[in-house]
Amino acid sequence: MAKRSMTISQLRKFCEKLDITLTDFDNKWAHQFLKTIGWEAAEDRPKGLAVGAKHGVFAMFEKSMCTSEKLFVIFHEIGHILMGHVTCRAMTIEEKELEANIFASVFMAMETYKAFSKGGELDG
Ligand SMILES: [Zn+2]
Repeated sequence: MAKRSMTISQLRKFCEKLDITLTDFDNKWAHQFLKTIGWEAAEDRPKGLAVGAKHGVFAMFEKSMCTSEKLFVIFHEIGHILMGHVTCRAMTIEEKELEANIFASVFMAMETYKAFSKGGELDG
């Protein structure tokens, strides 16, 4: 099985450099946050979420996804944060989602290229 270029723990370090806390939904704080906004049950919530809070900016993700989906969702949430979507009121949700998907797609394309250039292939 081929190795991918980036692991979730490397992505966590990348987020730390951007002052973004990366956490899965099972993290105690994230779980409490989801409970307060009514997304406690797994079937009610999205696969990822970008949140600006008093004590920082958080990119959250569903832990049960396969690695490729996790990477895409995390890049998508990072995109929301870096493009200012967390506080922006001028854009529609659809515009924000499109931009974040484009952002994540570019990173996934780079990730795919790096994996293949190392003789690898994408896996779950
Ligand atoms: Zn989104």
